[in-house]
Amino acid sequence: MKYANVLLPLPLDTYTYSIPPEMEESVVEGCRVLISFGKKKFYTAIVTAVHENTPLYDTKPLHSLLDLEPIIRRPQLRFWEWLASYYLCKTGEVYNAALPSGLKPEGDSTNVYKKKGYTPKMQIHVRLSEVMNEASRLQEAFDSLRRAPAQEALLLRYLDLTHALTSRMQKEISKSDLLELSSSRSSALDGLVKRGILEYYEKEIPSPQPQPYSLQPLSQLSDAQEKAYAEIHEAFLTKDICLLHGVTSSGKTEIYSHLISDAMKLGRQALFLLPEIAITTQITERLSKLFGDKLLVYHSKFSDNERVEVWKKLLDTKGPALVLGVRSSLLLPFTDLGLIIVDEEHESTYKQQDPDPRYNARNAAMVLARMHGGKTLLGSATPSLDSYYNAMSGKYGLVELTTRHGDCLMPNVEVVDISELRRKKIMKDTLFSPRLVQAIHAALSNSEQIILFQNRRGFAPMLECKSCSWTPRCPNCDVSLAYHRTHHRMECHYCGHVEYVAIQCPACNGKELKTLGFGTEKVEEEVEALFPSAKIARLDLDSARSRSAYENIIKDFEKGRTHILIGTQMLSKGLDFGNATVVGILNADSLLNYPDFRAHERAYQLMVQVSGRAGRRQKQGVVILQTSQPELPLIRLVEQSAYKEMVNLQLGERRKFHYPPYYRLIEIIFRSKQEEFAQAVSTEYAVQFRQRLGERVLGPVIPVVSRVQNLYIRKIILKVEATAAIASVRSIIEEVRIKMIMHPNYKQVRVHYNVDPL
Ligand code: ADP
Ligand code: ZN
Ligand code: ZN
Repeated sequence: MKYANVLLPLPLDTYTYSIPPEMEESVVEGCRVLISFGKKKFYTAIVTAVHENTPLYDTKPLHSLLDLEPIIRRPQLRFWEWLASYYLCKTGEVYNAALPSGLKPEGDSTNVYKKKGYTPKMQIHVRLSEVMNEASRLQEAFDSLRRAPAQEALLLRYLDLTHALTSRMQKEISKSDLLELSSSRSSALDGLVKRGILEYYEKEIPSPQPQPYSLQPLSQLSDAQEKAYAEIHEAFLTKDICLLHGVTSSGKTEIYSHLISDAMKLGRQALFLLPEIAITTQITERLSKLFGDKLLVYHSKFSDNERVEVWKKLLDTKGPALVLGVRSSLLLPFTDLGLIIVDEEHESTYKQQDPDPRYNARNAAMVLARMHGGKTLLGSATPSLDSYYNAMSGKYGLVELTTRHGDCLMPNVEVVDISELRRKKIMKDTLFSPRLVQAIHAALSNSEQIILFQNRRGFAPMLECKSCSWTPRCPNCDVSLAYHRTHHRMECHYCGHVEYVAIQCPACNGKELKTLGFGTEKVEEEVEALFPSAKIARLDLDSARSRSAYENIIKDFEKGRTHILIGTQMLSKGLDFGNATVVGILNADSLLNYPDFRAHERAYQLMVQVSGRAGRRQKQGVVILQTSQPELPLIRLVEQSAYKEMVNLQLGERRKFHYPPYYRLIEIIFRSKQEEFAQAVSTEYAVQFRQRLGERVLGPVIPVVSRVQNLYIRKIILKVEATAAIASVRSIIEEVRIKMIMHPNYKQVRVHYNVDPL
């Protein structure tokens, strides 16, 4: 009896099913099968192993087989397993995240999946059958061939051609080659096979050598770029990972293109990873001009069908291919990844927050590349502290590119102290300092463009009653509702709850509500009033809900149809606008006052990235940075683009307070409808952890937002030395979990883990 271990799209590890005799031949690792499981009639499952070990429990038979060829590759499965074990979730959850639903039919659908496309060309090969490995058996074989001289001659020729007797490096030979080289007839070969001396087996035809396919030649690299490019190659001689720290507009994308082309010339695959929102027609066009139909784009805003297409194309493609994709493209069926590029590697959106697998695509990319024997290049103008630290300590190669392409200068950053302007009543009821207004006017009159950055969407994050200070709050979450003027309503940014704006205060019946703080809508309103003839657009989650809306806003600005672009951090993602010369950061304070140890690192990255959108061609750009805390060291660091100084300052703090990169954080998150259950279970967990990890355990703490979607939240944070073996921490976590199953409230509390939280 044969059995198959299968993976279900559920929070489980594998299950064993028996293989019905008629399917025995065809069920192989990586194929999809339909199975019944629990109450559900059919799930699409993936075969992860075929074996003959009878399990201890009764097995159900597989219902049907969906693929004749594996659609999941072996390295891909190994990578999924690694993800699940590192990020403390189940391989089934990784599978669920990986496969587009079009590839996961749930009904009885033996014929849902019409096999199209992927049928690799197979060729019949010949080898000695296994029993022939003993010399005595081979002697017997020759004895038996005395009266079949044609077969005897063929067998001799076979042994000769493949070095089967003389060398362990036995050469493989195809049936047709053997027949041709031995001038034998196939009846002789069939005879040897019938006698059990030789056997046939199938093998994929190797892809032909790739043709040069560049449609448009790669750009000639500048001297500085050429040097960086050579240094990256050199770093790759001894290291698997290299960090390219290149200032904004230094031509990192050009260098990537050369490296991708190098990998593809070797017949290998390349993956270009970008943060979710940064995949625009801009970058797609740049790459497709170079790589034509070798380029596959994989984006979560694509329809399921489009994603199935990419999946199938990748299975069909033999030889070089380039995938441009977001985080989830790591889970695709690659066969031979030579290079992964992680652009904007500092972006926290590389980390999946919810649901499992809560993986960091940047870190996982390095593991995936290594599994393929490939290299990883991280690129950023403002690398994450973690990566820069690894580069400085020699774990990664480090290549720096400090000048912009062409004769283009870095923008000049001017800090404007808005608290002083307010005190002097120069700035009253306005978000714009006179200097910013003047810069915008000057740019408009030169037909140049302006980018205004405020990292909050909506009109105002908060409303407040003028007489009693009551503020509307979300009924489901522990946060106040943000005011959105466009739709004249209040919104929860955590659960999406909406309410119409209160006409009067429910606490004191007061009639006047005032706004506190401001978001992009308010900026837009004021810009309209200040610059009535300018064409304005807004780029934030509200205005760019769909891919096409997002693309249109960017295209309009690129083509000069809009003059002023107001937006949130969506603006900072690697966009290349030639004609924007002024960047206004309306209020840096809101970035700095976050209760998070990464707040300053993030604020630096955001401000420098947004600034980097200015003056990317001939004309030097200017950045007006408004803040009420100009004396903060971080502001000066942004002003001077003193990246290394920022790093040193922050690393000092991190070391002192036991944060990454010196320590690894693992969060354990508890959520329950009942606050006391969340509290009780998390408290007991913490006790258990302390017995094993002592001081390394923090909490349970009540997070700043302590309730979301009607679930009360508690959090335990484990701070483990970065040098500690992660496997032992994992086994402690598992030990505690098993112990906790007996807790009376265990079932009422959802627990999940967040490894390396961002
Ligand atoms: P980065 O990715 O570092 O921000 P880009 O690769 O977008 O920089 O380069 C900035 C601009 O300069 C782009 O418009 C790009 O086409 C142009 N550029 C950079 N390097 C070259 C080059 N070697 N030849 C031609 N154009 C270049
Ligand atoms: Zn009131
Ligand atoms: Zn809410």
